[in-house]
Amino acid sequence: MEKELCIAVAGDLLYDCFAWADRLPRKGETVTGYQNGFYQGGKGGNQAIAAARLGAEAWMLGKVGRDERGDFLLSELRKNGVHIEDVIISDQVPTGTCCVQVDNQGHNAIIVVPLANEQITDAEGEGFRARIAQSDAVLCQLQLRPETALQVLRAARQAGRLTVLNPAPAKPLPAGAFALADYVTPNETETEFYTGLPREDLPLPDWCEESAKRLLDLGANRVLLTLGEHGAYYQDRQQRFLVPAFQVDAVDSTAAGDAFNAAFTLRIAMGDAVRDAIVYANAAGALTASQRGSQPSLPTAEGIAEFLRAGT
Ligand code: ADP
Repeated sequence: MEKELCIAVAGDLLYDCFAWADRLPRKGETVTGYQNGFYQGGKGGNQAIAAARLGAEAWMLGKVGRDERGDFLLSELRKNGVHIEDVIISDQVPTGTCCVQVDNQGHNAIIVVPLANEQITDAEGEGFRARIAQSDAVLCQLQLRPETALQVLRAARQAGRLTVLNPAPAKPLPAGAFALADYVTPNETETEFYTGLPREDLPLPDWCEESAKRLLDLGANRVLLTLGEHGAYYQDRQQRFLVPAFQVDAVDSTAAGDAFNAAFTLRIAMGDAVRDAIVYANAAGALTASQRGSQPSLPTAEGIAEFLRAGT
């Protein structure tokens, strides 16, 4: 990349605790598992790491507790080249966690406990303003208090920065929230939540068009729906198109959306045309889906370049 772009990622940092067993426990039951693992997680952390691996100067805006889990997350971010100076370390509230149970067919049951992530005060949110003003683009999701996400987007708007809102996980938002972002990027289930239009009600092209129209009516400036193995659909007030996914042997789509969002934000900030940025983001998502795990599967710029050269 010729010019290093600065991307600020506002979002959650979670300590992921995985346990694998032949089957998931029923209510009240204990099952014996055969493997466990402890990882850096959270959409915010994943997106920041993805942006850094793709060549951006990535700055994390978030909050952890002053505890071993927080230390681990910060060291993982640093190892991956993410700047952590703006991450708030709390003496009052512990680091957020995510407990994931997985059976041998890959089905899972997850409990996220956001803790510090949802306790960024308004004053702390204000403290992100300087970094936001120095960044080329700001990428934000919703595993924070919606108020914090909106505060970040407002600050970015005031500074004239590019803003991308990945409204995940889906949460009720105040009217006008979508209008604060240049691009709104829900996946299929999040789209259903915000529009009230079930995916199975219409064939895919019609569902995309009607859903995007509803999101534009809710104030979104530009809508980008991620559609898993179907790729991504773009619509604004002038144009609409689907960019099909790359064909890969998908083994685990965890974090595919995070890679997609980071890649798209970076390429738009670099000045790519929307369609080109989506092709690049589809490659990032496909590569992530073709490998197991979340953070380890996030691609590098070289990995994507090779993938695109191979013409898969
Ligand atoms: P999320 O992980 O947020 O649910 P998606 O499942 O929509 O998001 O995936 C994000 C992007 O990753 C998709 O738009 C697509 O580009 C890519 N992707 C995801 N799953 C696959 C797949 N099975 N094959 C190819 N690309 C995929």
